[in-house]
Amino acid sequence: MTKTTQPGSGTLSIWGGETEHELYERSTQVPVVHSVSFGYKDIDTWHAVALEKEQGHIYSRNTNPTVRAFEDKVKVLEGAEAATSFSCGMAAISNTFGTFLRPGDKIVSIKDSYGGTNKLFTEFLPPMGIEVVLCNTTDHNALEAEIAKGCTMLYLESPTNPTVKIVDIERLTKAAKAVNAMVVVDNTFATPINQNPLALGVDIVLHSASKFLGGHADALGGVACGNRDLIKKLYHYREINGATLAPMDAYSLLRGMKTLQLRIERQNQSAMTIARWLQSHPVVEQVNYPGLESHEHHDIAKRQMRGFGGMLSFSVKGGLDAIKVFLPKLKYAHMAANLGCVETVVGPPVVTSHVECSEEERAAAGIPEGLVRYSTGIENVEDLIRNLEQALSYIC
Ligand SMILES: *Cc1c(COP(=O)(O)O)cnc(C)c1O
Repeated sequence: MTKTTQPGSGTLSIWGGETEHELYERSTQVPVVHSVSFGYKDIDTWHAVALEKEQGHIYSRNTNPTVRAFEDKVKVLEGAEAATSFSCGMAAISNTFGTFLRPGDKIVSIKDSYGGTNKLFTEFLPPMGIEVVLCNTTDHNALEAEIAKGCTMLYLESPTNPTVKIVDIERLTKAAKAVNAMVVVDNTFATPINQNPLALGVDIVLHSASKFLGGHADALGGVACGNRDLIKKLYHYREINGATLAPMDAYSLLRGMKTLQLRIERQNQSAMTIARWLQSHPVVEQVNYPGLESHEHHDIAKRQMRGFGGMLSFSVKGGLDAIKVFLPKLKYAHMAANLGCVETVVGPPVVTSHVECSEEERAAAGIPEGLVRYSTGIENVEDLIRNLEQALSYIC
């Protein structure tokens, strides 16, 4: 008997989700099906599809062939039973809360979640009668103690934005399971190439596909993976509430994902090289990267990740004034709010993710005024370093 070997993530980036559908007119690429509805010649077949007894599509707010191929590709890469998609990452997150949280429920999470997610925690969930408890991200004992008091959901991100903190997903998932809480992880920063939270016991893994999955900063999208039962509930909520992924965006994301493994491998390597180089630079005060031995939770990162990702952050002497001088000198980097694409992107959290916080709040979150978030692109790393060296020479 031949042993079945699971294909590698490079192979799955290419073929995942693309072998199960019928090729339209023998096209080798998944077609962009813009049609809102799908017609039937007889009522019985239509009825069977509507009842999900037969495969097919009815209406594109619910399902669509191009969107389905995107969902299937992420599903395969995350090693999930099922996946459903959303118009953007925030829709994946808010729809997950909408599906699984009810008044009186309690959610435990970390202080360093993505800015939009944090707004849901502080502004939108409490008025709906949902208790939100945010713990210090790296304090695993505090998180375990809070979870042990009982909760409906544990919501995690690792690595976090912009200080790339690491939480021990397996350890905290065990604590959550002990009180029958559901565990949701936003895996946007790690990508399925570097980390598979479902394999660590998590129930639902979410992505903003607008970042690394698509990789080209030209399409918004979100996706959730998990077991059939949970994803069916999530799909039903999204189907009715309407945060549907557009077919053209699904196509752009699918095309971007074909190079996912290739891009992430390159970004892992370049980010590591850049982090080490920055560490030895005289005007650089602090470098945050999970791949560095100096990172507080490097040991956890090593255990739960296969690569440390393309995101890093570092602070320079002179604070915001120094950043204003240095960042515009970078030739090969967009100064922008996004991340995870083929181009290097830089931005200070002071004007991006943490613009609404006071200086004291930022300091409490470990975000000095001179912090730069650096999303490593796929340019040649020698050019990126030379470019950083030149730009940093303007700070003295
Ligand atoms: C960007 C981002 C989101 C939100 O995704 P959108 O597609 O912009 O809605 C959520 N989580 C993380 C970690 C992100 O970086």
